[in-house]
Amino acid sequence: MQYQVVLKKMITELDEEVQYYLDTENNFLNLNQLLDKELEISFEGYQCLCCGKEKKIFRQGFCYECFYESAQVGDWIMKPELSTAHKGIEDRDLAYEKKVQLQPHVVYLALSSNVKVGVTRKTQVPTRWIDQGASKAIEIVEVPNRYLAGITEVALKDYVSDKTSWQKMLKNEIVDADLIEEREKLKTFIPEEAKNYFLENNGKITEITYPVLTFPKKIKSFNLEKSHVYSGKLKGIKGQYLIFEDGTVFNVRNSEGYKVFITIK
Ligand SMILES: [Zn+2]
Repeated sequence: MQYQVVLKKMITELDEEVQYYLDTENNFLNLNQLLDKELEISFEGYQCLCCGKEKKIFRQGFCYECFYESAQVGDWIMKPELSTAHKGIEDRDLAYEKKVQLQPHVVYLALSSNVKVGVTRKTQVPTRWIDQGASKAIEIVEVPNRYLAGITEVALKDYVSDKTSWQKMLKNEIVDADLIEEREKLKTFIPEEAKNYFLENNGKITEITYPVLTFPKKIKSFNLEKSHVYSGKLKGIKGQYLIFEDGTVFNVRNSEGYKVFITIK
């Protein structure tokens, strides 16, 4: 069986075990059913997810021009505190920015290797947590726009990491932490403007289990830019990574916009 795919991040569904799907243009390929099967991934070219042209991918599935022009990749995406739509100030396209920024956002704690703080649109819960490979997550505040979420994250970053080790996440080396307790400790550091949005009595921890048969002990990553073909037996899927028997991991999200053949042997 062979599929030609322009890679996009895997679509996920929270279930007893996360279900993973690859959008193959005319179908959705369930990846969980490929566990323990031999796969080959081979590089065929590029297709920018924004303009659709066969141009080299620069970042996040976008060619260089689109990355620096498209409203979908303004600086406020990675740095929510730079959001300005709530003041009516445009970055690249105010209509788009209003649509995305002026909607409920959540600041959360997630446990993927260590405890980290993060921001997401409310509609992206729990997708965002799954994409990061979190085993557990809990919401801290729910605010009406991206700016408030951003300044809350910035304030909390002084007391908790906003980064995680993807290698440890993939090896399943996770620290033991009580998210409810951590959340309580951080409460006092929420900035004044966002304090009223603290989710009182939120004891709800979302637990996430991934389809992984064996976790790798040593990791090497496969990158389509450096090597154009890889084949191996799929042993697990976690975050946005495929994990193979020989410890090779493939970050699907980092490969957005790459056109590949996936062959199931
Ligand atoms: Zn483009």
